[in-house]
Amino acid sequence: MRQNYRDRALVVRHYDYGEADRIVVLLTRDHGVVRAVAKGVRKNKSRFGGRLAPFVVVDVQLYVGRGSLASLTSAETIRSYNQLIVDSYAKYTAACAVLDVAEKFTIGDDASLCDAAADAIEDIAHSWPVGAHSSLAAATASCVRDGRQGSDGLPTLRVDKFVVQALANEGWEPQLFSCAACGEPGPHHAFSPSAGGAVCSACRPPGALSVPEGSLRMAWWLMHDCDQSVRDAWNTSGGSSEFWRIADSCHDVVVRYVHWHLGMKVRSIELMEG
Ligand SMILES: [Zn+2]
Repeated sequence: MRQNYRDRALVVRHYDYGEADRIVVLLTRDHGVVRAVAKGVRKNKSRFGGRLAPFVVVDVQLYVGRGSLASLTSAETIRSYNQLIVDSYAKYTAACAVLDVAEKFTIGDDASLCDAAADAIEDIAHSWPVGAHSSLAAATASCVRDGRQGSDGLPTLRVDKFVVQALANEGWEPQLFSCAACGEPGPHHAFSPSAGGAVCSACRPPGALSVPEGSLRMAWWLMHDCDQSVRDAWNTSGGSSEFWRIADSCHDVVVRYVHWHLGMKVRSIELMEG
């Protein structure tokens, strides 16, 4: 089937191909993940080559012939987050994790997933890149002062929010309050991906993750878009190590759960700084 179409896409990655071409992996709104060859872009950079960097939202024109690769015939930049992201390791690994998870979740066309990934990338681009916990005292003031860079804007939490919402969207919503096995109301202190979420002490299977009070609640807030609750927890704690202990545990829960459902590990999500 031969087809010519326009689509909006997030650039996931690119690599060189042949003498002058480049292959671009696109997360499109209407056609899922598309691998396309941009012919001649390395010889003639004035042609849309520069627009095809990761974390750029583009309007593309694609032609699908008989081969498995589409041809990219034009690309127009809509928004570029590349420069805001690539100068920070924390932002970069977080944004890569969003793209990697989105790519693995995209089976067919899924405009809402593509849009959610673009929103997450935008938030990460504008977030305050808190790295090592030791630098937190200095970072806290900025986080709280700038509304746009509230605690829900911290890269790790933003990735966790995207991932847990993507899981729920796929029909894999974790149980985060009641025991996933017997329904006993929580809060519980263990999480088991194979059981489907929180587990009570009676149902807890071997290998379940022990979680501190509050971490499943934080995951629940992220899943349900309760950004204000996360922000309040951040403000109440003053960005203390206790907040981070809970956030780290919440991240572990989300990572375990997504790995279990995908049946594979997403390396970029493991590389993220807490
Ligand atoms: Zn139970």
